[in-house]
Amino acid sequence: MHRRYWLPGEEIPPAVVTSGGKEGELVMASVKYDIEVQVSRVSVSRLLSEYWNPDPVREACKLCPDYGKVWSCPPGVPEADDYLKPFREGFLIAVKVKYPEETRTLAVSAAKAQEIRNQTYEKVKRNLLLTLLELEKEFPGGICIGAGRCILCSHCARQDGESCRYPKLRRYSITAFGFDFARMVRDLLGIELLWSPDGLPEYDVAVSGLFYT
Ligand code: SF4
Repeated sequence: MHRRYWLPGEEIPPAVVTSGGKEGELVMASVKYDIEVQVSRVSVSRLLSEYWNPDPVREACKLCPDYGKVWSCPPGVPEADDYLKPFREGFLIAVKVKYPEETRTLAVSAAKAQEIRNQTYEKVKRNLLLTLLELEKEFPGGICIGAGRCILCSHCARQDGESCRYPKLRRYSITAFGFDFARMVRDLLGIELLWSPDGLPEYDVAVSGLFYT
């Protein structure tokens, strides 16, 4: 798999796009998807001043079925201003998982759509986290933030009342920090989030962050 990394000080385009090829194409015999990656650099001060709105987001988090069940998610996630204080800026990294028409027609119910997501979107999120954990090593003192709940274990230890099994690898979910997420992704990455309650939208987006001093 070809990866392109950017180092501090190196010029990066405001949005870097790569179209998925073979690596994103095959999942199951009849399920196909494509990926598109976009990266945008943003200062921590801008993120906090323009997009941080913790109170309503915290309330919305309580409606999530994973609330209180995964150590990467609320309650217990630090305040964004405290957590990001050591960092000057960061990259927002978005991976669009695009479902072609032939895949969308397979999602005839919410359950089937979830099954397809488990084979596509969830896999992409896991690979994104593993890639960012590697990339983090290039930024001493930096830290990445995951795209959604931690999925390193199939069953989070929190559900059994136990401590995180991999505290050094676990990263908080970017959606847990109280940002106005849809507006942030629209403004900074130019991506509109889509929903399709009973099937698959045209695409899902996994958004993560990598922050450095
Ligand atoms: S590493 Fe495992 S135990 Fe820790 S938060 Fe992630 S899923 Fe839960």
